[in-house]
Amino acid sequence: MAERRPNILFIMSDDHASHAMSCYGSRINETPNLDRIANGGARFDNCFCTNSICAPSRATILTGTYNHVNGVTTLGAKIDGRQDNVAKQLRASGYQTAIVGKWHLGHGGHHDPTGFDYWDVLPGQGDYHDPEMSRMGESRRIDGYVTDIITDLSLDWLAGRDRDRPFFLMLHHKAPHRWWEPDEKHANLYDDVDIPEPETFWDDYENRASAAGEARMRVDRDLTERDLKGPTPEGLSAEEEKRWKYQRYIKDYLRCVASIDDNVGRVLDYLDEDGIADETIVVYTSDQGFFLGDHGWYDKRFMYEESLRMPLLIRYPDGIEAERVNEDMVLNVDFPATFLDYAGVKQPADYQGRSMRGVLEGATPADWRTSMYYRYWMHLTHHHVYAHYGIRTHDHKLIYYYADAMGQPGTVDENKPPEWELFDLKEDPHELVNVYHDPDYADIVQSLKTEMRNLQLAVDDEPYHKEDE
Ligand code: CA
Repeated sequence: MAERRPNILFIMSDDHASHAMSCYGSRINETPNLDRIANGGARFDNCFCTNSICAPSRATILTGTYNHVNGVTTLGAKIDGRQDNVAKQLRASGYQTAIVGKWHLGHGGHHDPTGFDYWDVLPGQGDYHDPEMSRMGESRRIDGYVTDIITDLSLDWLAGRDRDRPFFLMLHHKAPHRWWEPDEKHANLYDDVDIPEPETFWDDYENRASAAGEARMRVDRDLTERDLKGPTPEGLSAEEEKRWKYQRYIKDYLRCVASIDDNVGRVLDYLDEDGIADETIVVYTSDQGFFLGDHGWYDKRFMYEESLRMPLLIRYPDGIEAERVNEDMVLNVDFPATFLDYAGVKQPADYQGRSMRGVLEGATPADWRTSMYYRYWMHLTHHHVYAHYGIRTHDHKLIYYYADAMGQPGTVDENKPPEWELFDLKEDPHELVNVYHDPDYADIVQSLKTEMRNLQLAVDDEPYHKEDE
């Protein structure tokens, strides 16, 4: 008889940066239940997304392709559910499949979830309190807090599953997405403490391309009364006001994270009580990173580290050693390839990621990637971030702000002068000094441009047509 194939429980939150997880050395909070996954399995320190924004990252995780291939380049694009995805592949191979929680890839027509035996999702961003949810297209409002509800529905589905077949469950939390609305249980957490400010909190955006200074995601200027849950007190100096806003923002963010942590604990307890913890692959990740006051910002989108980096924890007692820390470069586009590998399903030829199984088992292939390609398409919309693409290696990051909407959905059609940035990540891990024009780096610039072109070719993307060389 064939060996039993593992269950796959994929837990993804929205905008949860790894520097707000204690297993990643957070200076600002504790996440004991997420740490249970890390301690029982592998923690990835170099997991990156290929486009740091919600819907595009979700589309990549589902389809195993980059956004110019799956069509979800921006928040203005919806997924075409007729294309292949990992749930369809797993379902066809005998898995029972479900998605519960945030979907955010469109609704109706060909935009509803496909490949799932059961789906129960929030419309669009969804609400934190008493959310409306759509179960297989039927909407109803559910009393309670969204993170608890998504967990309850997931546990209900697990309890009613067919025990003779493995399952693939995508449990997608809305939290801790803006507007960071905590539940009652955690509403007063951190009331009596000051959360430490990040090292780059007072960044002045000097010594970089103009994109950083032009972005509209500053804690001191761009957070709204809705974000801050009230007006800013009068009589504060500019410095005091920025500090006050940061505390308001980060405490609500961390309160939302605390609820996620509690609820992940409930799911882990269920696996233990049900006796299936050993044979279940548990993944915890987020669709991208987030600026937690880093560079004086909130939000994401940029190819800068805090936004580019995804938390990734994977526990699988039957197949992965505990307490592994891995520094290989893995990407969101690798997730579906990895799930198919563990399920014994051949990866379709058009998937663009690579199975992480060897990496997880401590046998990283000799030809594993040492660089990755990134592209943010959503020019200027919402936070005035310029469209850009770039390459990150273990030591350097080259970014090209081509700053053109290129007709992409949901963008602002207003070109800005293109600019380049190069960061020496070993010398300057906070990315504060652009060395693109420094003659000492001329050779590195040239080799990175060549490599970036090769990465673009490999995934069938094209360089921006006006790119200066
Ligand atoms: Ca997100």
